[in-house]
Amino acid sequence: MTNPNTAHHTSVLTHPDWPTVAPYIRVEYYNRDGSARDPRFRLEVLTMPEDVAEVALKLEIGCPSCGRTIHPIRARALSKRSRAPHKRHYYLAVACPLDVSVACSRGYAARDEYLKIRAAL
Ligand SMILES: [Zn+2]
Repeated sequence: MTNPNTAHHTSVLTHPDWPTVAPYIRVEYYNRDGSARDPRFRLEVLTMPEDVAEVALKLEIGCPSCGRTIHPIRARALSKRSRAPHKRHYYLAVACPLDVSVACSRGYAARDEYLKIRAAL
C-alpha cells in the first residue's frame, strides 16, 4: 500500500525527527463524550523554537491510509501572528488533508495512528 520511494516513514512515531518535535505536541480533548471508536481529541502543537519549527515543517510521512506523502505538522489559518513562521499555530494530522481525501482522515488507519501517537506522548 505504501510506496517506499515516496514515503519513508508510515508513522511519525518512527520518524527520526519525531523525538525533536514530540515534546511540543499536546493532546487536546474537545468532546469528552466521544466514543472510544471516535476519539475526540486533537494533537495541537505548542509554540516551538524556530529551529524545532523548521524540523517539524519539513517532516514527511506516508498517509497511513493511502501512502501519499504528507506533512503531518500543518499550520492553521493565517492570523495576525502568522508573519513569523515559528509563531504560527500548528497542529498534527496523520492523514491526507480533507481537500485531498476525506476518506483518509476518517478511516481506521488514521484513527489507529492518532491513538498510537496519543499513547506515545
Ligand atoms: Zn491518504
